[in-house]
Amino acid sequence: MTSTYADPRTQPFWDAAKEERLAAPRCTNCGTFRLPPSPYCFVCQHREVEWIELPGTGKIVSYTVIRHPLHPELAAACPYVSGVVDLDGTQGAGARMLVNIIDCDPDKVRIGDAVEIVWEHVNDDMTTPRFRPVRS
Ligand SMILES: [Zn+2]
Repeated sequence: MTSTYADPRTQPFWDAAKEERLAAPRCTNCGTFRLPPSPYCFVCQHREVEWIELPGTGKIVSYTVIRHPLHPELAAACPYVSGVVDLDGTQGAGARMLVNIIDCDPDKVRIGDAVEIVWEHVNDDMTTPRFRPVRS
């Protein structure tokens, strides 16, 4: 079934997400990950991709703490952390995700922190990734 939130280019990501698998498109010509999915490779302009399953772990490379809601309905969610995660298994080849970092103290999040994926079942049609700090 096609997700309300997907298009043909992103559908494989959402299909994998429903099964709690993180999949990313990789250029079949040069190996660059194209996440978010793009019609052409930004390195070699090749069109074709193969979908690679990733372990769902990574490190925070940038983040911000949102303390003021963009919409009144989001007031209860504040403060929360939005961050960019460099995904393990991609050798720094373009696979980063902008995600919410959950289950954390927003004042203790740091660049370089190890994080792992947590799947949130939004509804019957959509499961979306979040990340949380890896606890040792
Ligand atoms: Zn390429």
